[in-house]
Amino acid sequence: MPEDRALAVGVLALQGASAAHIAAFDELGVRARPVRSRPELEGLSHLVIPGGESTTIHHLLELFDLRQAIIDRYNDGQLALFGTCAGAILLGIDAGEAPPRFGLLDAILNRNAYGRQIDSFSKILPLPALGTELRCVFIRAPKVRRVGSGAQVLAWDGDDPILLRGSGLLAATFHPELSGDPSIHAYFLEPALWNSVRSCPARGVSIETEAPNRHVIAGQ
Ligand code: GLN
Repeated sequence: MPEDRALAVGVLALQGASAAHIAAFDELGVRARPVRSRPELEGLSHLVIPGGESTTIHHLLELFDLRQAIIDRYNDGQLALFGTCAGAILLGIDAGEAPPRFGLLDAILNRNAYGRQIDSFSKILPLPALGTELRCVFIRAPKVRRVGSGAQVLAWDGDDPILLRGSGLLAATFHPELSGDPSIHAYFLEPALWNSVRSCPARGVSIETEAPNRHVIAGQ
């Protein structure tokens, strides 16, 4: 993304937790707008795909003709994407499980991997890449099954990657908008997010030598 491009932040608001993301950006002095239609996507530099229910979000994205438009803008280097929980699931690689994935983040995420709603939890975890720790809220959260070389793990819960980045991409298996600390939202807005990724070795995660469907960044 060109460095001089004006910051314009949107939060997909078809289903799921959009208001708390908008409040997190507010804390940073950034006015984010809800996105429900193609015109509202126009001109955005950053888009959050929030947590919620990934199948429902997928269907609504198709219904409102937004899915391919988001993928195209990302591929053109116009739009950075931040997926949280259901949004992170959608950003990942399609391994044949519903719902269909965007195939942008070089990782495979399994839905509902901790169990049912009642198995939701929160805990304070270190985020070494951001130099902070955060209360991370996991609600029927996914687990990262595989990380390819196009993605980098930024934080772990034990052996489970919980925060990943790709070029122009950020994905959290938890809900950073509920932590009361906008550090991850600030990280999402840093231009350096568009730097290409050299994957850091993963613990407990099988690393692919050749990443399937690896996203090629325009201009590289
Ligand atoms: N379990 C949900 C799904 O599969 C995600 C939950 C969430 O976003 N908090 O889509």
